[in-house]
Amino acid sequence: MLINFFLKRTYRINVNTIQWNKTIRNHQLNGNYQQALKLFQIGIEKKTFQPNSVTYLTMLDICKELKSLSTIRTIHHLIDSSKNLNNNDDDIYNNPRIRSLLMDVYIKCQDLDSAYRVFQSMNERNIIDYCGLMTGFNNQGQYEKTYELSKKIPSSMKYSSPLLCTLILQACTELKQYDDGYKIHENGKHFLSNNKMFMNELLNFYLKFNQEKQALDIFEKNSNQLTIIDYSLLMKYYNHQYQPQKTIDLYYRLKKNSHIQIDHIIYVLVLQAIANGCCLHTSEQIHDHIKKFGTNIDIDNALINMYGKLGNLDQAEKIFHSMSKHNIISYNILLNLYGLYRQSDRALNCYNQMYQQGHRPDDKTYVILLHTLSQTPNKINDVKRIFFNIEENKRGPILTSAMIAALIRAQLFDEVNELLKKLPKENILFYAIKANINGTIDKFNYPIVITNEQLALYDLLMNNMYTYGGLNDRLTTIDEILYENDKLKNMLSYSWFEKSNGKIEYFKSNNLQLENCEHTEKLALENALEEQKISSLPILIAKNHRICNECHEYFKKISLSFVSKKNIYLRDSTRFHLFSSGICCCELA
Ligand SMILES: [Zn+2]
Ligand SMILES: [Zn+2]
Repeated sequence: MLINFFLKRTYRINVNTIQWNKTIRNHQLNGNYQQALKLFQIGIEKKTFQPNSVTYLTMLDICKELKSLSTIRTIHHLIDSSKNLNNNDDDIYNNPRIRSLLMDVYIKCQDLDSAYRVFQSMNERNIIDYCGLMTGFNNQGQYEKTYELSKKIPSSMKYSSPLLCTLILQACTELKQYDDGYKIHENGKHFLSNNKMFMNELLNFYLKFNQEKQALDIFEKNSNQLTIIDYSLLMKYYNHQYQPQKTIDLYYRLKKNSHIQIDHIIYVLVLQAIANGCCLHTSEQIHDHIKKFGTNIDIDNALINMYGKLGNLDQAEKIFHSMSKHNIISYNILLNLYGLYRQSDRALNCYNQMYQQGHRPDDKTYVILLHTLSQTPNKINDVKRIFFNIEENKRGPILTSAMIAALIRAQLFDEVNELLKKLPKENILFYAIKANINGTIDKFNYPIVITNEQLALYDLLMNNMYTYGGLNDRLTTIDEILYENDKLKNMLSYSWFEKSNGKIEYFKSNNLQLENCEHTEKLALENALEEQKISSLPILIAKNHRICNECHEYFKKISLSFVSKKNIYLRDSTRFHLFSSGICCCELA
């Protein structure tokens, strides 16, 4: 009706435009975007009115809602054509608000190339334009573009907006540009006291570069405006750095802070710390807190992992079965535990069940599964079936190494040699295998950080080789090379347990000369026996590396002696050892 009314009449341009703008605007205000668009199109087609800047600003706002790329392109074309109209009173083409909005709409429609072209066509750009474009780039992971752009911003503008600084810092973090990020900190210091977003990003920046001191400085100096995100960033960092005590301490500090509501991510992080720190005492208390808080799938998964890592597989399975829904992480966690407890039948069942439930395995699933099954030579056909069913281009170095470990254990050396050809040279496992099979070793640039997964596989590989050779485990060339890096040496050689006061105690070797496994687990056991006289809990000791034969014998001997009437658990990188009455469960399999 309305449209017909307009079409039947002819107006003089100016009066017409005001009237049309009003009607389009009314449609917009009522949320009738499609109608507004239709009206605009008809007006243009029939040349019944001449859109002005006001029309385009309204239409661009409407495009933002409609998120239709073809529409925005048409309107962009019209705006560009207006260049030839030579209207001095209303320069649509150079109108900075129209340019900004046009760019913004392209960003909203995820067309960043077009947005960038509009940006480049602008005569002047303000902070909002920069922020808009950089937000778009960062959201799409195009950090190089944000970084490039940051080099072109006049510095008077660069350090005047906390949002701009945050966006550039984000790009510096992702692109590992420490010096540029540091400069942002130096020049943007004054934002720290009143901008949580900037502070949070700066904390993230320093943690990503392992600059714990700087990160803590920011954390402590701005404690009045810390948020849950800052706590979780720091806790995640400590978990990653094998410092569970610090994660647990942060949890208790947070608990005392009545201004911040604890969320489920914090619980997941503290449960991970308890699992790694072997904190039997603390675990009960935190589980009570969780019962009051309520659980979700992530917390349940973390609880399964925690109980399993604390030696209580039954409880872990119980929680798994009580869950109404599982995800791939639930299965990976349970499979990993079956690996630690050498339950290869249960692992296979769990894997089949996972398939039946419609979950597709990911890389992690395969590595864990192969790791677990490879311990049982008679499962080698299952291992092969699973491995060769995975498309060849999806078999990464870790997975291939896990397969090699399994083949070694099953003594299928021809097949080992075939797979060896496919391992990339920079992989630590590749060197480990070569050094031990062919007896040749060159020094190599191993990665500074070796993941738990790689370590476990490496240790498993060594275990399998020695089992095959009927040899006692000893310090290998690769171990020696790893021990040259202090950080890795600490991580690999320390043993620890939780004292009854809830503090984790670490034991390091006093040996100046490297020998065997450094035997720190012996030291830990002696201390734990003393400590646990007053506790009803079992003895649980952990180590990130494989236990050597000598220590293994020592643990057996202690479990036989009158000193210990309790079960003694040792969790090393590849499995759980349960020592009782002079025998270890690993010898019964
Ligand atoms: Zn030892
Ligand atoms: Zn054992």
